[in-house]
Amino acid sequence: MSQQGYVAAPPYSQAQPGAMGYGPGPNQHTYGHYGGQQQAFSPPPPGMGPQMSPHPSTPGGMPMTGPPMAGHQMSGPPMGASQMSGPPMGGPQMPGPPMGGSQMPGPPMGGSQMPGPPMGGSQMTGPPMAGQQMSGPPMAGQQMSGPPMGGAQMSGPPMGGHQMAGPPMAGQQMSGPPMAGQQMSGPPMAGMGGPYAGPPGPGLGGYQQPGLGPNSPSGYPQQQGQFGGQMAGGQMAGPQPGFPGAFPGSAMAGPPQKKLDPDSIPSPTQVIEDDQAKRGGQVYATNVRGQVPPLVTTDFTVQDQGNASPRFMRCTTYTLPCTAELAKQCQVPLATIIKPFAVVPKNETPLYLVNHGETGPIRCNRCKAYMCPYMQFIDGGRRFQCAFCNCVNEVPVFYFQHLDHMGRRMDFYERPELSLGSYEFSATLDYCKNNKPASAPAYIFMIDVSFTNIKSGLVRLLCDELKTLLDNLPREEGAESSAIKVGFVTYNKILHFYNVKSALAQPQMMVVSDTAEMFVPLLDGFLVSYAESRAVIHNLLDQIPDMFADTNESETVFAPVIQAGVEALKAAECSGKLFIFHASIPTAEAPGKLKNRDDKKLVSTDKEKTLFHPVKGVYEQLSKDCVAQGCSVDLFLFPSQYLDIATMGDVPAHTGGAVYKYSNFQVETDGEHFLRDLRKDVEKPIGFDAIMRVRTSTGFRATDFFGGVYMNNTTDVELAAVDCDHAITVELKHDDTLSEETGAFMQCALLYTTVGGQRRLRVHNLSLNCSSQLMELFKSCETDSLINFFAKTAYRAILKQPLKSVREILVNQTAHMLACYRKNCASPSAASQLILPETMKVFPVYMNSLMKTAPLVGSTELSTDDRAHQRLAVMAMGVEDTQLLLYPRLIPLHNMELEGEAVPSPLRCSEDRLSDGGAFLLENGHALFLWLGQACPPELIQGLFNLPSLAHLQPNTNVLPELDSPQSRKVRAIVSSLMQQRPNSMKLQIVRSKDKLEVLFRQFLVEDKGLYGGASYMDFLCYVHREIRTLLT
Ligand SMILES: [Zn+2]
Repeated sequence: MSQQGYVAAPPYSQAQPGAMGYGPGPNQHTYGHYGGQQQAFSPPPPGMGPQMSPHPSTPGGMPMTGPPMAGHQMSGPPMGASQMSGPPMGGPQMPGPPMGGSQMPGPPMGGSQMPGPPMGGSQMTGPPMAGQQMSGPPMAGQQMSGPPMGGAQMSGPPMGGHQMAGPPMAGQQMSGPPMAGQQMSGPPMAGMGGPYAGPPGPGLGGYQQPGLGPNSPSGYPQQQGQFGGQMAGGQMAGPQPGFPGAFPGSAMAGPPQKKLDPDSIPSPTQVIEDDQAKRGGQVYATNVRGQVPPLVTTDFTVQDQGNASPRFMRCTTYTLPCTAELAKQCQVPLATIIKPFAVVPKNETPLYLVNHGETGPIRCNRCKAYMCPYMQFIDGGRRFQCAFCNCVNEVPVFYFQHLDHMGRRMDFYERPELSLGSYEFSATLDYCKNNKPASAPAYIFMIDVSFTNIKSGLVRLLCDELKTLLDNLPREEGAESSAIKVGFVTYNKILHFYNVKSALAQPQMMVVSDTAEMFVPLLDGFLVSYAESRAVIHNLLDQIPDMFADTNESETVFAPVIQAGVEALKAAECSGKLFIFHASIPTAEAPGKLKNRDDKKLVSTDKEKTLFHPVKGVYEQLSKDCVAQGCSVDLFLFPSQYLDIATMGDVPAHTGGAVYKYSNFQVETDGEHFLRDLRKDVEKPIGFDAIMRVRTSTGFRATDFFGGVYMNNTTDVELAAVDCDHAITVELKHDDTLSEETGAFMQCALLYTTVGGQRRLRVHNLSLNCSSQLMELFKSCETDSLINFFAKTAYRAILKQPLKSVREILVNQTAHMLACYRKNCASPSAASQLILPETMKVFPVYMNSLMKTAPLVGSTELSTDDRAHQRLAVMAMGVEDTQLLLYPRLIPLHNMELEGEAVPSPLRCSEDRLSDGGAFLLENGHALFLWLGQACPPELIQGLFNLPSLAHLQPNTNVLPELDSPQSRKVRAIVSSLMQQRPNSMKLQIVRSKDKLEVLFRQFLVEDKGLYGGASYMDFLCYVHREIRTLLT
């Protein structure tokens, strides 16, 4: 089995096993070949359904449900199957400059290897950096003994380190706690060059350093003997003797220090704004193979013209390399991120439902791929050639249609499966369990009524809410009421089931105290229609809080609760979801009992991974049982201390469920937050009991799957449920050579049960380009998708490998990808220049942010449960969510337009962007802060809080009062629109600068040094640049 190119040294690099771990290090193997087993290609095994009957009985008699064709489909340019296989890359659709990439002149570091001590003042006059050595990636917890720059502003041409006569750096110490105890023996980089500023230069169309005039060829201009020289607009800072972390005794005599202008390194907010300006508000028609969609952050309208909307499928690159060798050489991961139930905005067409009646969908006889726009009809329309396996199939008589002069079927526009990228088929009985029609799913609410939940007021709050919430259960489109059945269980050490049959005047409770052999004591009356049993259910919900009001019981069970839910669904022969509201670690004597195994001493050791491992045994089996039954588990946790989320979250993680956590829950401060989450969760669009299969054309295939899935074999992805926010990241690998001419096709087919109990197939198709030119691949990369892939692979890898190795691999691969671009695609330039592909110019900032996330940071200050929680959450995230998580929105509020709906443009996530006289919102999809500077304008404070000044604001305020002032209306509107857009609710935290809580806020300023370790963006970029240079020499 090969290394799959992840860590293998490319031809140009010198393996340096010791220092940076290039080459397969002892621990890199597992993560290194994240593609899983390499297997010989064989015809795919039979698909999820049986073979289609070759003898359809009713020719022509299969109506399509819904108007298959709408005007809007016709209005686009004719798309035609012929275009699908046409030349790669529709020129006009190709975003981004053809070439060039981003150039950042200036060696971040001067010399190459400098084993010597960090520079003290006296050494500053020598060649500043003759060979520094860094023993690890900057974030790996080593102490950066020097900032990239001295601390002054430098916006002009950078200085070549080796030409610098002045002190290259101030010897500042990274003040974040070291993470992995690595020591960097030299300054990370000296004289990091920098002006990487400004908009793309006109020349190459890439992101080019403005300092590079025609007269200044790439590279460092000669310096005038000292650090800094003439920088346009550069602010010279004076010596900074008191620079925090300066080396003891090293007085910073000598030339003033300069700090690299942060505006000179690629800006995520700028990239987002530019894409919005260029492609925002436009219609994105999907009729071009290998077309790169707008960024996830851009507002655009999708028109399906033969490829799935990017809302459903996004790729790390839209041009696959033709060979495995090329893929290995560039190390750019090939993957697609599929969100099968992504919400389609109101102005886009919902998926059409195709019904072929009893024959079921048309499929390829050999590989079972479903009819789609890529199938080629031949022989006058009597046969079609499969785009995936090339098998030639007979067209069933009822499906026959003549071809037009272009070789296209005459009914092309009338059939979604011939002209669209995404659509649904009605599934026949053959696609149902045991050949029996599916039934509508059930939602079971399982409430921990132990002391903690009663005392906090949670139980009462929840029961009150359910009375209205259950009116909003998801329903089939057009249906009057929801078909979903509901059931109720309360529990502590024992379980209470409720009979809420509509005929009853009072609900009846049945107790099961033997939790070792879980069974459901009643069938009839447990799962009911809410509409029919409303009165009895309300009666029950009124009684529950009082029934347990005086409880002293603090012990709970957990696994038996899930078991009970699955058994109930089994008995009812339906799929469904368990909503479990649980407070504490389950210590009562029962299967799945847990104990506190939190151990901070393991942090930063080889055993740290065990903190993320679920306890084996009971929960593994439960996951299997749940998936087999189509039972998803959503867990709402209300802990006051450790409760082993790694284990408790294991079943949700394998069943497409989610884990929500409200530490030290109090109704007053967290109630609304919890209820918003609950409402979203109960109401969201969802499918159950799903099997997903990704088929590909010959030459490559799907090898690995990440996120909320369960795999019994290597191809069928089982999902107990999949909702509108749930994304599965699929890794792709070569098993042969791909053809530039034919391109590459993917088809994701998801068989599932609707909320109305119908069995359906949802099909998403996507066509990609193939090229033997790496440049084409880099031009078609998508940074947001890449980072989603890296996040999921890294979060899986930490189950097996030390964090330090995982972080090193991430940095190494970043450097490899960029070095490969530099070597093969960029125009010749001085080695000192950092040149990034245009499509990946902000990749380093996301990567650095990823490495600073709680799961990847070895810090004893972080809660083990929080780390495990974040790990599980990210595994099922889509591209939008990982992008936002890794680069939060920082929205200035102090100078916004108060009228209108415009939201101020976000700023870069750095302390530098804050101002004492300002107010800022920061959100990342999970946390939401309102930060108020000490000198925040009084009229803003007055407008938002009706208080004369900031000093009057009570600490721990976490609501914005509803005031009738323009400021209040505007800020509340922004907050509520953010809440609406995000999958999760967020708890607003109001923080004044210099408050204690501020530290919580600052950890989200991801361009800065990490609070718990991890480099600043600038330092990271310098470090990566240095690695690239090493690879290139
Ligand atoms: Zn086929």
